[in-house]
Amino acid sequence: MTLTNWAGNTAFRARDVHHPTSLDELQRLVAASPQVRALGSGHSFNDVADTTGDLVILDRMPDAVEIDSAAAQVRVPARTTYARLAPIVHEAGFALANMASLPHISVAGSVATGTHGSGDTVQGLAAAVASLDLVTADGSLLTLSRGDADFPGAVVALGALGVVTSLTLDLIPAFEVRQYVREGLSADALADFDEIMSSGYSVSLFTDWRDTRVWLKRTEELTSPDWYGTRPADAPRHPLPTMPADSCTLQLGVPGPWHERLPHFRPDFEPSGAGDELQSELIVPREHAVKALRELYTIGDRIRPVLQISEVRTVAADDLWLSPFRGRDSVGIHFTWVKDPAGVRPVLELVEETLAPFDPRPHWGKLFTRWPSCPDRFRSLARRLDPAGKFANDFTRILLGE
Ligand SMILES: Cc1cc2nc3c(=O)[nH]c(=O)nc-3n(C[C@H](O)[C@H](O)[C@H](O)COP(=O)(O)OP(=O)(O)OC[C@H]3O[C@@H](n4cnc5c(N)ncnc54)[C@H](O)[C@@H]3O)c2cc1C
Repeated sequence: MTLTNWAGNTAFRARDVHHPTSLDELQRLVAASPQVRALGSGHSFNDVADTTGDLVILDRMPDAVEIDSAAAQVRVPARTTYARLAPIVHEAGFALANMASLPHISVAGSVATGTHGSGDTVQGLAAAVASLDLVTADGSLLTLSRGDADFPGAVVALGALGVVTSLTLDLIPAFEVRQYVREGLSADALADFDEIMSSGYSVSLFTDWRDTRVWLKRTEELTSPDWYGTRPADAPRHPLPTMPADSCTLQLGVPGPWHERLPHFRPDFEPSGAGDELQSELIVPREHAVKALRELYTIGDRIRPVLQISEVRTVAADDLWLSPFRGRDSVGIHFTWVKDPAGVRPVLELVEETLAPFDPRPHWGKLFTRWPSCPDRFRSLARRLDPAGKFANDFTRILLGE
């Protein structure tokens, strides 16, 4: 049976798929293979994880999650999903600073593509990485930690430097969040964009570029009844207005643990149409957000026929070389498209053209057509750690200009 990504729009071309059961077996496999790549949980929408050689899936490796309470850190095996990790961390009295919209994704795969949630003061998931272990091209194990010269290049690295076997993540004290959905945010409210996005720990706008609803995740109760001219949803809502909300985390302002509120989707349900979608996301500097959003409103009629829903989120800057948030507080403008690649492509190109004046960066795990330039220092690092291009694939060859 052909192995595909979650959305089914990418069929992996790997000659062989391996499930190593120990570090030693993985190291031997990598050392012997001419072309190899790791697959996480396969949720990316492009061929970033593909290889024509050996694809390794780390789902049978030792799976112990180790919490160091004194250091407020957790060491996780690479293929661990956030759905498995979060309750363990919570049980120990800690939290991850943020989570993506769904917890089904693997830690290594998420970190490798710069995956993020929302929150003015919260960075992408990769910024929580304090150190990682990776099996490099000759099969040896390399540990890189914050403070090491190569570390900022090795966290968001698209699998191009080696197979990550474990990661150590920073933790913060566990906290409670209330999730509210507010409906009827008018386009005029963009004038208050900064205040709206800073009204919670994590704020998302869901829009079809006509009607906008707000997912507001706060540590405090929301007391203002007509918050920015909106009305409270009278029942739980799904980000797609036509879908039932069974798969969504608890709303209506009921307080609950961070990991049961920050993701939009519950771990025990498939998030939306179970793969019946495509996604793109362009990340622009925070200071251009309002202008960029206004431009998108002007092409709303072109976007809507192939759009399921858009989501607007904020992410704090980090210093990771390939991170879409490198050096700039950012706004992620996301598009969940219908599953029609040919119909979506010209609209995606139009969106990219419209956002081009705002210096956008693409989400590495989603669909895009305009490639950003690769920082020279990342190219040098990839060539030094992987001189023969063992971990290269079509995706990284374009990025690295090979
Ligand atoms: C329904 C849905 C919702 C989503 N929501 C969000 C969201 O809220 N925010 C957001 O930013 N993104 C979101 N995404 C995108 C998703 O987070 C990214 O595509 C992410 O990379 C998925 O993780 P994964 O484990 O499936 O990675 P994969 O797609 O399996 O792999 C991604 C990359 O990581 C590399 N990789 C994986 N494991 C390893 C390893 N052990 N060592 C080295 N490299 C490795 C792969 O080679 C590949 O290059 C969503 C995707 C879906 C399908």
